[in-house]
Amino acid sequence: MRFSGKRAVVTGGASGIGRATALRLADEGASVLIGDIDEAGGQALADASGSRIQFQRTDVLQAGDIEALMQAADDAGGLDIVFNNAGAGGSRDPIGEISPEDWDRTQALLLRSVALGIRYAAPLMAKRGGGAIVNTSSVSALGTGYAPTAYSTAKAGVLHLTKQAAADLARHAIRVNAVVPGFIVTNIFTRMLDLDAAKTSKADAMIAHIAADAQPIRRPGTGDDIAAAVAFLASDDASFITGTHILVDGGMTIGTRPSW
Ligand code: NAD
Repeated sequence: MRFSGKRAVVTGGASGIGRATALRLADEGASVLIGDIDEAGGQALADASGSRIQFQRTDVLQAGDIEALMQAADDAGGLDIVFNNAGAGGSRDPIGEISPEDWDRTQALLLRSVALGIRYAAPLMAKRGGGAIVNTSSVSALGTGYAPTAYSTAKAGVLHLTKQAAADLARHAIRVNAVVPGFIVTNIFTRMLDLDAAKTSKADAMIAHIAADAQPIRRPGTGDDIAAAVAFLASDDASFITGTHILVDGGMTIGTRPSW
């Protein structure tokens, strides 16, 4: 029960990594407020959790929504933990074709949203004497070629933002770290690869490829794999850790050894 008496905000908490993390934090004693554009999914999770998880409709493209989410947690008794995680694939256009508008929208969804999450959480945490912030990056930030350029660039920005924010906020006893997921089988995975329920054979083929060839730990990652790392970074077990990240990718970035 590492989070007994603590209050956490999780963006993108209605699905996938955010959902698994909201459940993990709640299981360890936190009161959790999730923010998401998916009202049905968010409310369903809150309803199923008893009173451990609350939902507030939040579009992370809207600064006012993010500010209101952080303020709601503060009003409920104080904000201790923030997981800036909401996201989607953004524009899939290559750099030679992308429009300025699509570029901006992808950066706003995946990078500005994290900056604003920190921006609005920090003063509320500072007045309480500290807190912990975890941001979701991606292996694509480290140079793997699977994800689109605008997405990967934003996720690399999240890593640098994490370091700079940690430097800014250490004086307020606020730690800022990132989690770097590899291939995790969630809705975003199927949407980015243009796989939907009607194309499950393609999805199955991708998952089989990951399990067979893409990484040394030969199974797809799960939301729970990421949630465990986020819970560690958010907890006092990580009280001397700030401005860094944990890679949770089954070894994808070291690659597989050939069998010959
Ligand atoms: P997911 O689609 O299951 O969950 C994403 C959640 O974010 C959804 O509930 C969605 O409604 C919400 N969301 C999307 N746009 C939003 C907006 N404008 N405002 C508020 N909420 C919004 O996918 P996931 O895999 O759980 O993704 C979570 C994070 O993990 C994302 O930032 C994603 O880029 C990152 N990530 C995922 C993988 C992967 O393989 N799944 C790998 C690396 C990084």
